[in-house]
Amino acid sequence: MTGRLTTPLRVDPSALAPEVGFFRYGVVGGKVLLTNEGGEFHFLPKERFDTFLRGKIDGEERTELERKGFFKTGLDIDRMAARIRRKKSFLGGGPHLHIVVTTLRCNHACKYCHASRTDMDRVDTDMSLATAREVVEFAFSTPSRVLNFEFQGGEPTANFAALRFIVEHALEKNRYENRELLFSLVTNLTLMDEEKMAFLVEKGVMVCTSLDGPEDLHNANRGWIGKSSSYQTVSGWMERFNQAWIDKGLDPNLFHVDALMTCTRASLGRGREIVDEYVKRGIKSIHLRPLNPFGFAVNTWKQIGYTMEEFLTFYRDTLDYILELNQAGTFIQERQAAMFLTKMLTPDDPNYTDCRSPSGSGSAQLAYNFDGAIYTCDEGRMVAHMGNDFFRLGHVSGSTYADIAAHPTVRALAVASIQEALPACADCVYKPTCGIQPLHNYMFDGDIFGQRPRSRKCQEFYGEQADLFRRLAEDTDGRTEKIFRRWTIQRSRPGTIPYPTEGSA
Ligand code: SF4
Repeated sequence: MTGRLTTPLRVDPSALAPEVGFFRYGVVGGKVLLTNEGGEFHFLPKERFDTFLRGKIDGEERTELERKGFFKTGLDIDRMAARIRRKKSFLGGGPHLHIVVTTLRCNHACKYCHASRTDMDRVDTDMSLATAREVVEFAFSTPSRVLNFEFQGGEPTANFAALRFIVEHALEKNRYENRELLFSLVTNLTLMDEEKMAFLVEKGVMVCTSLDGPEDLHNANRGWIGKSSSYQTVSGWMERFNQAWIDKGLDPNLFHVDALMTCTRASLGRGREIVDEYVKRGIKSIHLRPLNPFGFAVNTWKQIGYTMEEFLTFYRDTLDYILELNQAGTFIQERQAAMFLTKMLTPDDPNYTDCRSPSGSGSAQLAYNFDGAIYTCDEGRMVAHMGNDFFRLGHVSGSTYADIAAHPTVRALAVASIQEALPACADCVYKPTCGIQPLHNYMFDGDIFGQRPRSRKCQEFYGEQADLFRRLAEDTDGRTEKIFRRWTIQRSRPGTIPYPTEGSA
C-alpha cells in the first residue's frame, strides 16, 4: 500500500489485512481511487476505504476487486503478469521514431520556437544528400519493425531535396527490408507548392502543421518574417491537402492535415475559439500543449509564459467544451487525454515516448541533426544548440546502433525514468498511467532525475490525470466514459503508430 504524501487520508498500517494486495491510492472526485501495477483502477466511497483495508469488502465488489488484482485471494497471477507484459510491450522494440532535421532554416520567428532556427540564407545548415542516405541506412540498422521518419526543422520543406531523397531511398530499401514504414512532415506549410504537395500525397507522407487558433491568435504567436498572415496561407494549404486526399479516394477521417497548438498567455481564456477553429477545419484531434521554456521561449517567457495552474485551468475549461461538443455529436478528441485514457481504460500503452517508464529517449526515438549528429530526441538536439552536448549519442557515419543503444546517456536516461525507483512517483496513485521525460528535468532542475512534485512536467501530468479520473469518478450515467472510450480507439491510418508527433512546426 502506498499513497502520495499529499493524500488527505490517514491510514493506519496496522489495520491492513494480509490478503489485501499491493495498491496505490489517492482521493479524486470525493472518492478513493485505487490503482495497481496491472493498470487497473477502482473507485471506493471514502467510508468503504477502511472496510477495504481490513479485507472486509464482500459480494460483487469483492469479486471485482479480486479480478482486478487488489486482493491476493482470488488473484489470477498469470492474468496480472500478462497485463504487465502487455503494458510494457514497447520494451525491446527499438527506436520507431526517427526525427530528421533536414535544415535549420526557417521563414518564421515564432515567439515560442524550440527548434533553434537559422535565417533562410544559411544553406550551410541544410542536410546533404550523402548525410540523408546515411540517416536512412542508420534507421534501417535499428531493430524496430516500425520506422517512422518524422521531418522537422527549421522548416523542413526549405530543404525539400533531402526530404524527397529520404522518402524515396527508404521506400526503395524497404522493398526487401519489409518494415512498417511511415513518413510524417511537421511543417508551417508556408513554403508549400504544387510539386511538393503532389510528391507528398503520392508517397503517403502525413502532414502536420501548427495552428494556434483563430487568425489573430495564430498570427500573434507565429511571426512570418516579412509577411502579414501565416494563418491564411496555412489554412489554404490545409484545404488543398485535404481535398487532394479525398480526390485520391482516401478516408478523410484518416487522411487530413493534422495540427498542433501551443498555448501561450494569449491563448488562456480562448479555448472555445481554438477548438472551434479545429472543428471548422475538420481536424479530429487537438493537443492542448503547454509552453516549454526551451529555445526562444526562454527569452520571451515574461511576455508569453504563465503558471502551470493557469495552464491547467485552461486545460480543464477547454476539455469541458470538447466534451460538450462530443455529447452533441461532433467528434474531436484531446490528444494528451487520449494518451492517458488509453493507459487507463485499455490493456495497452500507446508508447508515447515522452510519457513512458522508462522514457523512450534514445531507445524508442532518435533525432538526426542536419549534420548527421544523432541525439536522444529532438529536444536533446536543441539543448546541443544551446552549447551542451550531453544528449548527443554519436554520428550517422561512424556510430553503430549497438553504440547508441549502449550509450551511457541512454542508460542514464532509462535509470532516471524508472518510476518505481523515483521518489514521489513510487508513491503516486497515477504512477501506472504516467511517464517521465528526464530531459525536461534536466532543463528545469539541472539534473535528469529532477524533483517531483516540484517539476513542471509532473505538475502538468498530475493535474491532467487528476482531472480525467475526477470526470470518471463523477460520471454517474456513463456518458463521459463512453466518449473517453471512443478516444482510445486509434484513428490513425492502418499501420501507423498513434502519437509520433512532438515537434513544433
Ligand atoms: S511524474 Fe507522474 S507519477 Fe511521478 S509524481 Fe508526478 S504525476 Fe505522479
